[in-house]
Amino acid sequence: KAGVNEDRYLFYAPQMNAQVSEQLSLENRLHRALEKDEFVLHYQPKVSLKDGTVVGLEALIRWRDPDKGLISPAAFIPTLEETGMIVEVGRWALERALADAASWRAAGLPVPRVAVNVSAVQMRRKDFLNTLEQALASHPGESNYVDLELTESLLMEDIEVNIRKLGAIREMGIKVAIDDFGTGYSSLSYLKRFPIDQLKIDQSFVRDITADPDAASICVAIIGLAHNLRLSVIAEGVETGDQMTYLRRHDCDEMQGYLFSRPVPAADCTQMLTARRTL
Ligand code: C2E
Ligand code: CA
Ligand code: CA
Ligand code: CA
Repeated sequence: KAGVNEDRYLFYAPQMNAQVSEQLSLENRLHRALEKDEFVLHYQPKVSLKDGTVVGLEALIRWRDPDKGLISPAAFIPTLEETGMIVEVGRWALERALADAASWRAAGLPVPRVAVNVSAVQMRRKDFLNTLEQALASHPGESNYVDLELTESLLMEDIEVNIRKLGAIREMGIKVAIDDFGTGYSSLSYLKRFPIDQLKIDQSFVRDITADPDAASICVAIIGLAHNLRLSVIAEGVETGDQMTYLRRHDCDEMQGYLFSRPVPAADCTQMLTARRTL
């Protein structure tokens, strides 16, 4: 292609070439991963701070690479988003999660709600609602037990469109949580217009709860905000008993974190669903 642009020199710098080809090979490997069914879902329980019961399971994707082992989503979600592949992988995750839930239910287990993460790239698609409808249609018994987790920044992107989409999503029986709450730039005046069900306090605030009074204040403020808007509130990344005690004392509804359980493979969920622990 013709055209002289200073930026092009940057593009042709050797170091840049290495980055580009690394990116390309990751992209190719991700395509293969999808074809060869190398993605897996792990599930992490959400626990009621009132009575210690497991009230939900969050599906978290991993890539079981034959050479490199289990790869965390932080290493490949950005590439899936940049290439648009997240649309297909996200659909897979939704269907996998519904199929897992349906099979636990068929086995007679007490199955809580199952939450699936949704990327901005998926939400922006016009056919996203269709994708949801199709997935629910193939597992009709699950439609009232599905949660979607969307980030704050995603919702603020296109407020009016998202308000309408969320309304339609909730009419399908799905509940919606705002993930990583507190890290984005929510306008509080819009927050009350979003048809949502839960705020999820970002783990960065939870982590510092006992060490940093400001982080603690932010958690308490988010709990109050949620309750004033008649939303439930969950804290993520709870690792210590002190963090749990603080959250519970301040009336947080649910928690999720290593303190209770790490994300576990689907096969280990059956045991988790029948166990009951006292907090
Ligand atoms: P997230 O949705 O905010 O998920 C919470 C992350 O914190 C998970 O990391 C989880 O394993 C981790 N975590 C849970 N409890 C604790 C704790 O007590 N301490 C600490 N330090 N970490 C904890 P993970 O599984 O590596 O996922 C990272 C991110 O990747 C997720 O953040 C989410 O944004 C994204 N992701 C995962 N699965 C999917 C998916 O199916 N679709 C999309 N679009 N994104 C996904
Ligand atoms: Ca999440
Ligand atoms: Ca989160
Ligand atoms: Ca996050």
